[in-house]
Amino acid sequence: MMILQQLQARLVVAATMVGWLAAPALSGDERNLHPLAESYVKLVLAVGLHDSDYVDAYYGPPMWREEVEMTKPTLAAIRQRAEALRAALAAGNFSAADEMVQMRHRYLDRQLAALEARVAMLEGTRFTFDEESQRLYDAVAPTYGEAHFQGLLAQLENALPGEGTVTQRLEKFRRDFVIPPERIDTVFQAAIAEARARTGRHLSLPEGENFTVEYVKDKPWSAYNWYRGNFQSLIQVNTSLPIFIERAIDLACHEGYPGHHVYNVLLEQHLVRARGWLEFTVYPLFSPQSLIAEGTGNFGIVVAFPGEERIAYARDVLFPLAGLDPARAAEYARVLSLTKQLNFAGNEAARRYLDGELTAEAAADWLNRYALMEPARAKQRIGFIEKYRSYVINYNLGERMVEHYIESRVAGDTARRWALFGELISTPRLPSDLK
Ligand SMILES: [Zn+2]
Repeated sequence: MMILQQLQARLVVAATMVGWLAAPALSGDERNLHPLAESYVKLVLAVGLHDSDYVDAYYGPPMWREEVEMTKPTLAAIRQRAEALRAALAAGNFSAADEMVQMRHRYLDRQLAALEARVAMLEGTRFTFDEESQRLYDAVAPTYGEAHFQGLLAQLENALPGEGTVTQRLEKFRRDFVIPPERIDTVFQAAIAEARARTGRHLSLPEGENFTVEYVKDKPWSAYNWYRGNFQSLIQVNTSLPIFIERAIDLACHEGYPGHHVYNVLLEQHLVRARGWLEFTVYPLFSPQSLIAEGTGNFGIVVAFPGEERIAYARDVLFPLAGLDPARAAEYARVLSLTKQLNFAGNEAARRYLDGELTAEAAADWLNRYALMEPARAKQRIGFIEKYRSYVINYNLGERMVEHYIESRVAGDTARRWALFGELISTPRLPSDLK
């Protein structure tokens, strides 16, 4: 008896060290998912040892990270553990559990499937652009031909009379709307304070939540939110290229309120702290979670500044703070709304470039012509596409999916829009749930 107990204890220790695997027979009790969630977190951290962009945030138990760093599993070992973990998840029956627990169960499975795909990519597998986005982000972006973008360009030609290509005319027109570098922080801080106040009127945020803003240069992105846990974020803004006035509200909302910062804060508050779902202390960048994060980040701009409110606030507060002419705010907004329809041209450039149909130069040229990016911006974008690949769909397709999910349910009602938005960013909903 004594010997058997010791043996059992030793077996448990061995299983924990070797495989991080829990027993496969699961009932629909959410506590049964805790050890599987722990294994998932460790697998994400382990992939992070092979891919420095993979772990976007981690604020879970430091011991778990130390354990992973000490054992340093190979990609093959990670793949096997992920497969075993998904099998253990599949063995559980959660059909009678409440909706949140069912979502948690499905979420872990989809996130793990994406992890497997990323591991395969690190091992050298090349998926097509659409296969990759399906596997990593649980979504495929629509395909548009050149004729689609040519039609949209023709509309812009009329709105922007003058010499040169539409991109050159747009660039010339936009020069009057650049925030002077010495005013960037003042303008951003005002936009952040306003976005925060608007968010606070509709969503209940935990006390002490906050973020700091840092200005950096020479990054492939224009801004980045780094979540630190404990309701704190660091937001970095890339000032290598001129920053246009509309970016103040964009960044304040997308990175901050009610975008990434609030998303992470609410996940920590509602899932990690209230329920003990520790899988949300880790954020694997190349996973379905990113489509929800980027989609709600972008749609959060509309949520915080619906309809004409955005133009009004920019005109009355941000234009004067930036030293720009408020009388031109409406005209500027009109041109921008036309250019926004072209933003799927960026996906097309990425798809064709990564699928080998366009060279880097030809893809930059495509971005210049159809996504209206002047050469320096197109070059920065090519750098982003090379590094983050099909991640690009998370912004515009993500926004479209989130918008559809919310607007089809709230019928234009501001309070209901906020409520549903708040619910979406506090729950483990997947892109394929956004019907
Ligand atoms: Zn983002």
